[in-house]
Amino acid sequence: PIYLDYNATTPCDPQVVETMLPYFTTQFGNAASRQHALGWQAEEAVDYARQQVAALVGADATEIIFTSGATESNNLALKGAVEMYAGKGNHIITCVTEHKAVLDACKHLEKQGVAVTYLPVDEKGLIDLGQLEAAILPATILIAIMYANNETGVIQPVQAIGRIAKQHNVLFFTDATQAVGKIPVQVMTDEIDIMSFSAHKLYGPKGVGALYVRRKNPRVRLTAQIDGGGHERGLRSGTLNVPGIAGLGKAAELCRLQLAAEGQRLSQLRDKLEGALLELGGVSVNGDREHRLPHVTNLAFQYIEGNALMLGFNKHIAVATGSACTSASMEPSFVLKALGLADELARSSLRFSLGRFTTEEEIDYTIQKVSETVQTLRKLHPLNS
Ligand code: PMP
Repeated sequence: PIYLDYNATTPCDPQVVETMLPYFTTQFGNAASRQHALGWQAEEAVDYARQQVAALVGADATEIIFTSGATESNNLALKGAVEMYAGKGNHIITCVTEHKAVLDACKHLEKQGVAVTYLPVDEKGLIDLGQLEAAILPATILIAIMYANNETGVIQPVQAIGRIAKQHNVLFFTDATQAVGKIPVQVMTDEIDIMSFSAHKLYGPKGVGALYVRRKNPRVRLTAQIDGGGHERGLRSGTLNVPGIAGLGKAAELCRLQLAAEGQRLSQLRDKLEGALLELGGVSVNGDREHRLPHVTNLAFQYIEGNALMLGFNKHIAVATGSACTSASMEPSFVLKALGLADELARSSLRFSLGRFTTEEEIDYTIQKVSETVQTLRKLHPLNS
């Protein structure tokens, strides 16, 4: 089948797998074993990966903490900041279209007495900077706004948010899981203090991710949420996943080298797909078309039930209704509802996310197959008969 669900996960690049392999077998050492060569080799691999990851986002290697993925990174950022800065205040600002790993961590914190402001988004999926600034209180310690949305691909005005946070002496944390490796995310120019991302979204392995934690102007401090041997500067204990980390490093390097050309190639393919499907009529784009990841389009198909649409072609093409994390439930996407879509239209929306191995032939086939299915289903719809 044709895979157009790269926002859910990506295959490992073959070069990434090759980089990882020795660390499962011949170079299996523990990166914390400082007494022998196997340990040093593992430590060296981790150091090298840390530099590769840092280079992708314009950070210093000492600012990268390895974790088990973006879910853990998000939890560490939010809970770690709340615990560390409890003396300053107990208020966080986030947004209604965040990933569950942010929203549910916020809910957890609310039960412990933390106050959380959930900013709304407009019909394009963007937050309002005036509302953000107005929401800042003396007790505010953290602004948590995602870089790009996993369902719509909409990119928030990150640099402006970072600037506002700095002016008010509040930390800015961004879940950049869908943006890193796809668009030029740079922690310094974007004025980001804390940032999470994940290897399996950028052609690396599943179960490994990173948290960027700024060390200068300001020096950000977090309270560890996993205690133990003091790995990762005490911020995340546990024996390092050396193969996974080496894979993340290689994946980051490949993304850094290909990012500009790949963004252009994918946006052309995405625009071709989107343009052709819009021509069917009764189809609209969910979210801002300008501030959007180059490889994503989320489309609402009127007068069709989303599941019926997908059943029409999901043997041949893998796409998503909503996100992988919530698609087990039949509830319409909360992200699309936050943009103001009625339940019915949210249910009849599909996310197409393209990636490194997407070809023009696949896009042509998808256009043909989806168009046929839409036309067939519309003939059956009561409103059309
Ligand atoms: N944040 C966002 C925006 C995501 O898209 C995802 C993956 N669906 C996550 C966090 C969770 O990442 P992981 O699978 O690495 O825990």
